[in-house]
Amino acid sequence: MWIVVPRVELSRLEAAYLVTLHKMEGGGRTGTSALAETFGVNEASVVDVIKRLEGKGLLVREPWRSITLTKRGETLATQLIHNHRVIETYLHKVLDIPAELACSEAQKLDSILDRRTVVSMCRALNRPTTCIHGQEIRHLKWCR
Ligand SMILES: [Zn+2]
Ligand SMILES: [Zn+2]
Repeated sequence: MWIVVPRVELSRLEAAYLVTLHKMEGGGRTGTSALAETFGVNEASVVDVIKRLEGKGLLVREPWRSITLTKRGETLATQLIHNHRVIETYLHKVLDIPAELACSEAQKLDSILDRRTVVSMCRALNRPTTCIHGQEIRHLKWCR
């Protein structure tokens, strides 16, 4: 019997926003204007994506244009960052793809690959501690 696990569908753009918001938190600049600046778009299009993420229960908007990720949003952002770093490291180390290309390819894949696939890559690499950019890889509980 198949058990259907509810899963949030994210576009690549939505995934990128989620990760950026996660990284901005603590920096104190989590407003729409900071996002508009980061992505080089106008605030109206930022608000559009933010509303979609809010509709998926991944963030809440508060007065003064500040944005906070929900617990679910945080968890998802953490997974996306893990996936990105594992995938690019796999592409670079196992398939010998140049670092820059490995990173941009990972950006296309980090939100769409099944978790089991990423976990297999992670295991094949023996749970690396850093990605190709030297950033720390924090493993998920499934990576063991
Ligand atoms: Zn990268
Ligand atoms: Zn891992």
